[in-house]
Amino acid sequence: MKKRNRILVVEDEEAIRTGLADVLVYHGYEVDQAATGPDGLRKALSGKFDLVLLDIMLPGMDGYAICNAIRENDRRQPVIMLTAKTSDEEIINGLKLGADDYVGKPFSVQQLLLRIEAVLRRSPAGEEQQRTLWLGELSIDTENLSGRRGDETLTFTRREIGILQYLAANSTRPVPREELLLKVWGYARNLDIETRTVDIHMAKLRRKIEPDPKAPVHLVTVRGAGYRLMSDD
Ligand code: CA
Repeated sequence: MKKRNRILVVEDEEAIRTGLADVLVYHGYEVDQAATGPDGLRKALSGKFDLVLLDIMLPGMDGYAICNAIRENDRRQPVIMLTAKTSDEEIINGLKLGADDYVGKPFSVQQLLLRIEAVLRRSPAGEEQQRTLWLGELSIDTENLSGRRGDETLTFTRREIGILQYLAANSTRPVPREELLLKVWGYARNLDIETRTVDIHMAKLRRKIEPDPKAPVHLVTVRGAGYRLMSDD
């Protein structure tokens, strides 16, 4: 039998939380619940869930902060945010940046179930084909965060691997810094992180992956357009 997907429901309103849990269990999901921000964060970071359903207004810590902390820890953890219908455009935009999707309250159960299925379909389990990344002589194991070039062994951070994977998946074009911040960091461009952060990471990456970091052949800058990964295929 197929493994049942596990969903964490973080919601302080008891009627909504238990109602959601009942519906999800009825539809074949395994469900755990959290009623406060800190409890939600602790459970979300356990890495046990295929999806986190996250309310915004929560006691102790709000959904934005939780979403950011989840992203810091695991870029690929699927998150759907539950937003009050009165949310203004700006809030909705903010949500799009860090979360995989958002559903306005009050929501229709049918619509929520469809969104959940869609997010689970494109979640990490389906992403394994890109495990090894080749750049010239260098092979990078994206699971173990390590690289090999001849006898030389390199280690990468999760974020560096995230950057390389995103660029590799979009290697037909240069990727703007703002897009990298959005897709790899999960941050909106106008939050307190600057595009300079991207450049610093690129410089570090080049020292690892380029034969000559001053004359990059893999991770190239396309003036005015962003960064492009020149892969072998
Ligand atoms: Ca709430």
